[in-house]
Amino acid sequence: MTLILKDKAALRAWRSSLPAEVKLGFVPTMGALHAGHISLMEQARAGSDRVIASIFVNPLQFGANEDLSRYPRPLEADLAKLEAAGVEALFLPSVDDMYPPGSSTFVDESMASLPLCGAERPGHFRGVATVVLKLFNLVQPQIAWFGQKDAQQCAVIERMVRDLDVPVEIRRGAIVREADGLALSSRNVYLSAEDRAAAPLIYQSLKAAEAAYLAGETEAEKLSALGLSVLARSDRLVPQYWELRDPESLGTIARVGPGGALLAIAAFLGKTRLIDNLLLLPDRRPEAIS
Ligand code: AMP
Repeated sequence: MTLILKDKAALRAWRSSLPAEVKLGFVPTMGALHAGHISLMEQARAGSDRVIASIFVNPLQFGANEDLSRYPRPLEADLAKLEAAGVEALFLPSVDDMYPPGSSTFVDESMASLPLCGAERPGHFRGVATVVLKLFNLVQPQIAWFGQKDAQQCAVIERMVRDLDVPVEIRRGAIVREADGLALSSRNVYLSAEDRAAAPLIYQSLKAAEAAYLAGETEAEKLSALGLSVLARSDRLVPQYWELRDPESLGTIARVGPGGALLAIAAFLGKTRLIDNLLLLPDRRPEAIS
């Protein structure tokens, strides 16, 4: 049985009941769990002694015109998936418990959070960093797992943990995809049949740029133009950005160098905004393989 901890007090009581030497693994989520989330739970089970997940749809990371009120909340199905994945405890706090009236302290990472989704969703990463630090302080895990699907989120959290001396080790889990390449996302349920049919072009655009890179192209402008040309095969897909960035700082790069590159994309299908990414690793280029 997955133990449900409905508020901070219940969580603290559970946490303090664990032996001091326990290596606690943590997977924070917003629920509407899919195989991408579950793969993180499985990695947490393999990499720690005990595993706790959280489900909290964090209002602080949603913009005024975003999908906070319609975000899917299938709690029964989520609980069944957590049980099946062998997750021991679930932290399921209310908004009031997490943000009592009068909260006035926030976490601002001021480099990796600025471009890409940070530029398109002002305040988003402030909301993410604030809730993740609060969750870390409450759960006190030794290790926490985040998905590479949200590569910018990973970069922001890794910097926050480093810069603020937070005693949590961050691990990244690989992106889990549908058979046709679409990255699993809780937001995929919003897609109409027509939008769903066009959605695999997002991953195809990343793979096309990767193929060009592996064939020798390193110029950022050329690779992003190629990616955008693949997206343009459907007029349903409206790109918000398609960029190459330094994988750690998320700073701009003119060409892919020894540090590799993060190919990052955000695109609208109707009202649904999807993100995806792919890492270009220099050691995968033919001339680097001896
Ligand atoms: P969310 O519920 O969207 O906040 O996601 C919770 C965690 O699951 C985050 O660390 C995400 O990066 C991760 N995640 C979401 N989708 C995927 C996916 N397709 N593959 C791997 N991890 C994912």
